Amino acid sequence: MRYISAPWRADYVRKALSMKRCIFCEAMKSRDDRSAAVVYRGRRNFILLNRYPYTPGHLLIAPKRHVADFAEARPDERAELADLLQVALRVLRVHCAPHGFNTGMNLGASAGAGVAGHYHLHVVPRWTGDANFMPLVGATRVFIEDLDTTYQKLRPLFDVERARRERAGRMKRSPAVHSR
Ligand SMILES: [Zn+2]
Repeated sequence: MRYISAPWRADYVRKALSMKRCIFCEAMKSRDDRSAAVVYRGRRNFILLNRYPYTPGHLLIAPKRHVADFAEARPDERAELADLLQVALRVLRVHCAPHGFNTGMNLGASAGAGVAGHYHLHVVPRWTGDANFMPLVGATRVFIEDLDTTYQKLRPLFDVERARRERAGRMKRSPAVHSR
């Protein structure tokens, strides 16, 4: 997904590829959601902020399991991934009212995956003309320093979504009441 010129990404991708540890597994294991930029933990997947975003609000949805290829995803993993994509779209619409989204996966280093060993779905909010104004904002630092601010705004919105999903899950599990 190279729709936006993001020069800091090249450096990041190079660094990520040379790293032995997996940033997704590390974020997943972290006990500190805020420092790990994890906004949502599901049963099989979790959502985190991209530290090197294409646009502000750029999210990543990844399985808890370390798997490189989406073709290896289990049915419960891919079902929840689709659910969490809906959650992410809802939250981002409230958070930053984007005009549209790019969402997709880069599978394999040659396809542009920064972390090729652990598949992840990008959710990138887009605004009309953002490809023109984004580089003018002054590159990296604006977005990177703003990550914690973004986190603090997004986390409560995801907490609302989690409560909603938990309520829905309880209703599904509780036995149906039949009236005679
Ligand atoms: Zn991993």
